[in-house]
Amino acid sequence: MADVVVVGSYVQDHIWRLDRFPQPGETRRAAAFHTGPGGKGFNQAVACLRQGVASAFIGALGDDALGAVAQRFAADEQLPCRWQIHAERSTATSGIFVDRDGAPMNVVQLDANEALTPDFVHAQEDLFAGAKLLLLQLENDIAATRAALQAATRHGLLRLMNPAPVRAEFDADLLALCDLITPNETEFAQLLAQIAGVHVEAGSLASCDDAQLHALARRLGALTVVLTLGARGCFVSHADGERRGDTAVCYRLAPERVEAIDATGAGDAFSGALAAAIVRGQGRPFRAAVQHANRVAALSTERAGTAPVMPRYEDVERRFG
Ligand code: ATP
Repeated sequence: MADVVVVGSYVQDHIWRLDRFPQPGETRRAAAFHTGPGGKGFNQAVACLRQGVASAFIGALGDDALGAVAQRFAADEQLPCRWQIHAERSTATSGIFVDRDGAPMNVVQLDANEALTPDFVHAQEDLFAGAKLLLLQLENDIAATRAALQAATRHGLLRLMNPAPVRAEFDADLLALCDLITPNETEFAQLLAQIAGVHVEAGSLASCDDAQLHALARRLGALTVVLTLGARGCFVSHADGERRGDTAVCYRLAPERVEAIDATGAGDAFSGALAAAIVRGQGRPFRAAVQHANRVAALSTERAGTAPVMPRYEDVERRFG
């Protein structure tokens, strides 16, 4: 039985490394290329599993060669998956450019992920019944996301949402079904506008102090917000009376020092590792789980790629003790 159930996307990533991004109309040579399994949901499931926590993944594929790659990788990884296979859809693909600064530029065609149905999610009720935490993102049809949140609510699971990418259908009612969210700064700004009607520039969040970030996070409702800040670490804001064992209602964790070459999937490493650390460390202050996620995500930036290079628990122990 899995402790963490991830409902999310599978995408076959195609990643090019180049010195700088091309201008419109320009052709540039890439320094390196590789392709491999990815997708926010699948990356997070692999990140969670590699932290030594029993995990299971629910997702959708096309009935095609890339779908077979996904199933082979999951089998090798020993990640239990429930796949909804769509004959009339293709397995999703992405194109990712990574420049010298390690900042990714992504294009994704979500295809089969958009066809994950609420009925298929409901049919996996047995997984929810035995789990402790649901982890999900916003790369599937929103009706399937809602079904997953409802199933998790029925079974009393902790509900962790990585709201990426923010979409218009993710409304206040759905947000109210989440216990914790892990937006990056862009997603945080989008949620504030969409849910609370508060308009802030994502770029201006870097100059906010803790009290200002906390006040903004509180506009999203009575849930814990873990805001990822890229190379600046992360920030935690708890709802009043919901400190999850922490002494402070809000705080910041500095980034771990690493030799970052590729931040693709760092957010996925963070959310997957946070889910694992919460389940593993029940009863310990939440800060310890966030610190673990901050470490796993930092380590992930030292390697090019997504799911196949997610750090393992031993890697984190060896590096940070
Ligand atoms: P992606 O969409 O590429 O997966 P994201 O935008 O969701 O990423 P970020 O906020 O960029 O996520 O990064 C997630 C976490 O990764 C950060 O909170 C931090 O813990 C870690 N991280 C990212 N870049 C660095 C870095 N250069 N050094 C140390 N830690 C980093």
